[in-house]
Amino acid sequence: MKLRENVPISTLTTMRLGGSARYVAEVHNLAEVKEAYDFARENSLPVYPLGSGSNTIGRDEGFPGLIILNRLKGMEVIEETSDDVLVRSAGGEIWDDFVKFCTDRGYSGIEAMSGIPGTVGAAPVQNIGAYGQSLSNTLDHIEVYDTKEREMIILGHDELKMRYRKTILNTEEAGRYFVTAITLRLENFEHLEPPFYNSLQKYLDEHKITEYSPTNIRNAVLAIRGDKLPDPAVQPSAGSFFKNVQLSPEEAEVARTNGYKVYKKSDGSFTLNSGWLIEEAGLKGKQFHNFQVSDKASLILINVNAKSYHELDQVRSEIIKTVFEKSGYKLEQEPVEIPSTGFSERDTRPASQNSQPRGKSANEQELV
Ligand SMILES: Cc1cc2nc3c(=O)[nH]c(=O)nc-3n(C[C@H](O)[C@H](O)[C@H](O)COP(=O)(O)OP(=O)(O)OC[C@H]3O[C@@H](n4cnc5c(N)ncnc54)[C@H](O)[C@@H]3O)c2cc1C
Repeated sequence: MKLRENVPISTLTTMRLGGSARYVAEVHNLAEVKEAYDFARENSLPVYPLGSGSNTIGRDEGFPGLIILNRLKGMEVIEETSDDVLVRSAGGEIWDDFVKFCTDRGYSGIEAMSGIPGTVGAAPVQNIGAYGQSLSNTLDHIEVYDTKEREMIILGHDELKMRYRKTILNTEEAGRYFVTAITLRLENFEHLEPPFYNSLQKYLDEHKITEYSPTNIRNAVLAIRGDKLPDPAVQPSAGSFFKNVQLSPEEAEVARTNGYKVYKKSDGSFTLNSGWLIEEAGLKGKQFHNFQVSDKASLILINVNAKSYHELDQVRSEIIKTVFEKSGYKLEQEPVEIPSTGFSERDTRPASQNSQPRGKSANEQELV
């Protein structure tokens, strides 16, 4: 197990903020995962698992414990019939590499999630999704290290209680399981059936793409995302910075009466596009406190030159206040923050969030 001391969290996260982590361990196999948790236990250190840090923000005070970086590698086809296929990937693989692995072989079910940053191991945590697909549609099971029982186990799809951007991994059991691998059941169909998600269909029509293979859909999604979303390697961000506003049916009715465009989600609930609220408040493209509200996708906050969490705090407060004054809606942050307490064995939820499960602040919407 590779162990480093006093590592800036800003170098481990795509928003590029955060003081030092006391220890950082890179784990490359199952023995090292266990070794890392044993090290934390023996030294009474809180633990925080991390993949690519693309949905995580570090704070200036850093983290007094052990960050475990998932670097487990390997992708394989486990079983294939003429209809479907079981594919497995270790948690430290890059999600988009896994999508390519699957589309290259003509397997379908995750092609619309091409280009989502991050690792395979983090994908089930918030049940990632984009362009009408979400991981829950194809996930068969995950392999995890159970830090409570100190053993490797398998959790089936149903045990994860996957819903919109939430699973037990970021709500009631947050911190308990370290995801070491996932297995998906994909379709073995080279030709997909339209219609696709609106903006994707529009792109396909405009570009006269009529052969709907997983690879063609993947390439279309990558092109759309590339045009709209900042590459975190070039423009630091944590993706969508605010959740869409969730509304009850009564609130949705009031919003409609007040001229707001309300969307009905597949589960029957209602949502208001926060990016649109930000635009309406005149903040699209605005640069302040060394951050910029993206001029292409208003939900994205780009770190232009900020060095401290304090600057993020200022820009966040200003956006929330301006949007509230303009619309009456209070925006909530989407990316998770590394809590100074991390996860310990007795209580798998961060102490700072015990009264409010982490799922409440987990991702709520797609960017696209
Ligand atoms: C530009 C941009 C665009 C994005 N677009 C989308 C999108 O379209 N759809 C979407 O759903 N998301 C999107 N995201 C968010 C992000 O890509 C996903 O949340 C992704 O799954 C995060 O992966 P990661 O490895 O970077 O996770 P991290 O940020 O490292 O971790 C995220 C959370 O998962 C936990 N975690 C990480 N690894 C493990 C593990 N092995 N075991 C247990 N817990 C773990 C962490 O503790 C943390 O709470 C976007 C982000 C960016 C920057």
